[in-house]
Amino acid sequence: MTGDARERARRYLARRRSSGVEVAFIVPEEETAGTRADDIAVVTSPAGAPETAAPDAAAAPEPAAPRFDASASIRFTHEPASAAQSSLFGEEPRPGALDLSSRDLASLEALVASCRRCGLCEGRTKTVFGSGSPTARIVFVGEGPGREEDLQGLPFVGRAGQLLTKMLAAIRFTRDEVYIANMVKCRPPNNREPQEDEMAACEPYLARQLEIIRPAVICALGRTAAHGLLKKGTSLGFLRKAVHYYDDIPVAVTYHPAALLRNPNLKRDAWEDLQAVRRLYDERIREGL
Ligand code: URA
Ligand code: SF4
Repeated sequence: MTGDARERARRYLARRRSSGVEVAFIVPEEETAGTRADDIAVVTSPAGAPETAAPDAAAAPEPAAPRFDASASIRFTHEPASAAQSSLFGEEPRPGALDLSSRDLASLEALVASCRRCGLCEGRTKTVFGSGSPTARIVFVGEGPGREEDLQGLPFVGRAGQLLTKMLAAIRFTRDEVYIANMVKCRPPNNREPQEDEMAACEPYLARQLEIIRPAVICALGRTAAHGLLKKGTSLGFLRKAVHYYDDIPVAVTYHPAALLRNPNLKRDAWEDLQAVRRLYDERIREGL
């Protein structure tokens, strides 16, 4: 059992209610000192063993994904950035890594336009950097350009993009006031999922975009974006039930619009996710973030 897992085994799920939105977040035990007992709920592993109750954490099984109280509408899983996560944001540049710290969005976009850091450069027509407002308070992150996006050099302009526009409208956002980007900036052949090495090669660009924009909320569209941003291999169905963190920015997860086109049964859940995204956004804006 790793030290990290031991630490996780000692965590509490603390809850607070604010603005009618129930928020729960996992915090290290010491941070809950002084919290009223009735504000604390115990995270239980799917096996049913309360993590906090494990008398000998070393003997406890590796904690699997925590089970959440289904009555909570928004939950924050607040965990210290893992080593993998910190590579996304705010770390010292590694030797040979791209130092983008002096770049603004325009010069970053120009750099991306000539990027050959991974094999996806071979098949692209245009790079797809991102679109929307550079001062957006919310950023939506997709997977990578499809055919239309590759031709136009703009994200989400094909069928999935049209649905995304409707999804945004459903929660009173226009495309101009949000920012939209992808995990990879070049189209994977035949719209296959980007591979890990391609995502890793492209990651510094998205990291810098998010560092510049510093949105109040990030919404990951689909599994690729969720896994790429959060470095958690958990299923999308699970991830979308919680609010996670990228650096200190809350990340909500929902289905990719292309998944909704393939499977309209998911639309009801997606609708609920979007309402939660809007509530989270409103709450963060109210807090002045
Ligand atoms: N799907 C994505 O993930 N991104 C796009 O830009 C278009 C479709
Ligand atoms: Fe560069 Fe990203 Fe395109 Fe790969 S996908 S060539 S890393 S811009």
